[in-house]
Amino acid sequence: MSGDVDVVIVGAGAAGLSAAKEAAQKGLSFVVVEASHRIGGRAYTEELAPGQPFDLGCHWMHSASLNPFVAIADQHGFAYRKDGSWDHDIWHRGALLGEEQRQAVRALGEADEQAIAKVIAEGRNDSIADVVDLDSPWRPYHAYWFSLSTSVDIDQTGVLDIAAYNDTDENWPVIKGYGALVAAWASDVPVTLNSPVERIRLKGDGVEVVTKGGTISGRTVLVTVSTNILSSGAIIFEPGLPDSKQAAALELPLGVHNRIAILLKDMPAGDMMGQSSTVMLEEDEIPLAIELGPYGLSHAVAVTGGRFGSWLERQGQQASVDYLSERILAAFGNDMAKHLTDRVIVTAWEGDPWTLGSYSAALPGSHQQRAVLGQPIENRIFFAGEATSTDFYSTCHGAYLSGIRAIEQVAGTVRSAI
Ligand SMILES: Cc1cc2nc3c(=O)[nH]c(=O)nc-3n(C[C@H](O)[C@H](O)[C@H](O)COP(=O)(O)OP(=O)(O)OC[C@H]3O[C@@H](n4cnc5c(N)ncnc54)[C@H](O)[C@@H]3O)c2cc1C
Repeated sequence: MSGDVDVVIVGAGAAGLSAAKEAAQKGLSFVVVEASHRIGGRAYTEELAPGQPFDLGCHWMHSASLNPFVAIADQHGFAYRKDGSWDHDIWHRGALLGEEQRQAVRALGEADEQAIAKVIAEGRNDSIADVVDLDSPWRPYHAYWFSLSTSVDIDQTGVLDIAAYNDTDENWPVIKGYGALVAAWASDVPVTLNSPVERIRLKGDGVEVVTKGGTISGRTVLVTVSTNILSSGAIIFEPGLPDSKQAAALELPLGVHNRIAILLKDMPAGDMMGQSSTVMLEEDEIPLAIELGPYGLSHAVAVTGGRFGSWLERQGQQASVDYLSERILAAFGNDMAKHLTDRVIVTAWEGDPWTLGSYSAALPGSHQQRAVLGQPIENRIFFAGEATSTDFYSTCHGAYLSGIRAIEQVAGTVRSAI
């Protein structure tokens, strides 16, 4: 095999960065080329104001007891909260939901779990919408939470994809930011920024990777870009990707999950502060989960998902800010208006040119495509990234583990060629 380096790593998100660290540890030579001006990809923290960190992408270390970022957080001194299952106050028409209604909401969640488990046991390829009770007045509440955990609506993904995910019910938020943690952990990885890869071609017994800044030749290439980037044709493969690989990317599309933050001034006191609250104004309205002052920080955070999240993103930043502001006033009282400021961050992941969405969800019947997506082509083009993870897909640690898995494959190939 010929080439200047053993592996050219395309993308410096969690998958590309863990691959680079693993390559270094295995003594493989590598370069990392990243399209944007920063590392981290979908792991990214900004400050809403000094001392007010806000994650635009990942925030919770899911399945924490199996998540390698917990040990990394300890090493780098990043504090986290050991949260378990999601437990929210539910505000409804300006009042906290009464116990009887909470029971009804909980009962529907349990009925959903049972219906899904039954279909999983039967091995059927149904969508979530095919198996749950759509007529319940509390369906919008649970449909909303599904849209946050999967980034799509309940008719757009299958129960078998949900079944494959290894959920330990431990979701630990990184207080100063999961994105900041990824950036700190990977600060020693050399990355060539602002270098979008335009072409990947098989050349001789190696590969050529064409970027805006020039061509790099390698023995192998590891592609870690999102499935929506792969399907968009932004990177031209020569020869073209096999049909099976194209189908895998198309059947694991990224949906939308966006986060909206508003800086609060003169922090109000009260029971709702520091709470994770789901606001439901009317039974049939799409709810909105709002956190007021999480971990004592001075901001309100809300999250949208699925088709509605996509629609709201396309209305522009101000529409998202208005949407959150109106719901804060409706749920917590007009007095909250004096605490809202015009310091905001609104994500727009679907419009982000380097991801084109938030995270992958398998179409009903397509959950096996994750393994197909992760398979190498001719032992020279390798694939990693959250969508290739069969058990921790759509997460930051799933991306991390996929990078290590791919470098093990690369190392086997490079060594067998020596
Ligand atoms: C709003 C939101 C909330 C989330 N919440 C959580 C959470 O709480 N917990 C959790 O675990 N996960 C969460 N996730 C998912 C998690 O952030 C992702 O699964 C993970 O970060 C993906 O990492 P990756 O390396 O696979 O892909 P990416 O991070 O997308 O990395 C791919 C990189 O490739 C680059 N690239 C693209 N095109 C090119 C090109 N042509 N040439 C070179 N480089 C290119 C991109 O710029 C990017 O940096 C969330 C995601 C979002 C968007």
